[in-house]
Amino acid sequence: MFQAYDSIIIGAGISGAAIAYELSKKGYKTLNLDALAAAGQGSTGNTCAIIRTHYSTLEGTAIAYDSYFSWKEWGKYIGVDDEKGLAKFYQTGLVNFSNEDFDATKYMEFHEELGIPCEVWDREKLLERMPHFVDDSFYPPKRPEDSAFNDPAKGKIKSIVVYYPNDGYINDPVLSVHNIQRAAESRGAEFRFKAEVTEIRKNESGVLGVTLTGGEKIDAPVVVNAAGPHSFVINRMAGVEKQMKIKTRALRHEVHFVPSPDTFSYEKKGMVVGDADLGGYHRPETGNLILVGSEDPACDKRDWIDNPDKFDREVTNAQYQAQTYRLAKRIPDLKIPNKPTGIADLYDVSDDWIPIYDKSDLKGFYIAIGTSGNQYKNGPVIGHILAEIIHACENGHDHDNSPVQIPLRNIDFILNSGFFSRNREIIKGSSFSVLG
Ligand SMILES: Cc1cc2nc3c(=O)[nH]c(=O)nc-3n(C[C@H](O)[C@H](O)[C@H](O)COP(=O)(O)OP(=O)(O)OC[C@H]3O[C@@H](n4cnc5c(N)ncnc54)[C@H](O)[C@@H]3O)c2cc1C
Repeated sequence: MFQAYDSIIIGAGISGAAIAYELSKKGYKTLNLDALAAAGQGSTGNTCAIIRTHYSTLEGTAIAYDSYFSWKEWGKYIGVDDEKGLAKFYQTGLVNFSNEDFDATKYMEFHEELGIPCEVWDREKLLERMPHFVDDSFYPPKRPEDSAFNDPAKGKIKSIVVYYPNDGYINDPVLSVHNIQRAAESRGAEFRFKAEVTEIRKNESGVLGVTLTGGEKIDAPVVVNAAGPHSFVINRMAGVEKQMKIKTRALRHEVHFVPSPDTFSYEKKGMVVGDADLGGYHRPETGNLILVGSEDPACDKRDWIDNPDKFDREVTNAQYQAQTYRLAKRIPDLKIPNKPTGIADLYDVSDDWIPIYDKSDLKGFYIAIGTSGNQYKNGPVIGHILAEIIHACENGHDHDNSPVQIPLRNIDFILNSGFFSRNREIIKGSSFSVLG
């Protein structure tokens, strides 16, 4: 039977676009289908786009470091012109705090093993670089409605913080996905938007293709689930979810914007800060703003979403106050506007907050899901991993019993891709949080 495509990729976020690019490089004719109007309009469009290497596992650290080189040399990675220009990587550096229950130096051993630069700073060094901070400890994080919220500080933050000079953020994540789309198209890839998949068609031999709203059927021997927070919906359509040991679900998250304090310009001197003492993170944002996010401290109730098509996209006063009032403890000069601004979107969270990059029990159906609020930065390597797994399996390799070993392209590391298996045991070393 004639088939116009070797592979259909459901989703055109950072994952789906990068998979298309890497499969196209291998000579596959790919088609990305996305329900939205353009590339990167799903959760990728609302990512904080922080590029960092500290992860709780060696494999997580390695793939983040490998991707860092693609961001650093973005024009080279993309390899073609984009009429909209290229996304930019602001390498501001990142400082990571410890707290009573967590030692930020834990990540350093993986950095040493992989040769990634990082330094230990004492409190004096921190205040030299970020003079608008107070170095008091407020741990554990609390909500503003807690009567103990305004209790005096309990001494100083743990004296050691870790500085990662390679880290930073991408200025325009939607543009970065558009860049990858153009790179993939230059290799023959096709993208269709406003094209919602409503059915995965299959028979006893494997996947056959997909059906779109309106009934159009498109066939291909390979279908990839890169549907972000809709990953579980697509897995159920394909009938593969029940057999997977690790599953995914959608978690709503808010980030907020506040102005830089008068005493310190984040535009000129800001960097990314992971403040485990206050359970949050922040980074500079265009317009001399600060973007304020949360590391899900225990006091904040997790907002699991059953239907990823129906959730509140407005930020709430309560969460705005929780995240910005906590930051105001670190930055007493912080000005907090009365009216909240920010975004609310979904993480696609796996049971252990580590992604699933794998085949499935349905022949020809692959998954790049469970990105757990922390895999935008790994887009380039996600494309590479999936392309290698798909290519090996489509050529008869038994990936379940002998996971594909993937030499990373920018660092000297052979990734055992079985680490990201759908059938792994829960990875106990995970942070079980957005930190991965
Ligand atoms: C608030 C927030 C902050 C974050 N901050 C960071 C960060 O600082 N650093 C970091 O590395 N990561 C971060 N992340 C995580 C990161 O954004 C995600 O890991 C990444 O963007 C996921 O990309 P994706 O392509 O897998 O999914 P998405 O970008 O969600 O793409 C999936 C696409 O699939 C499409 N789709 C779904 N169902 C269908 C269907 N039935 N038919 C057709 N199309 C369909 C959707 O329309 C969507 O465009 C953050 C996430 C959020 C929400």
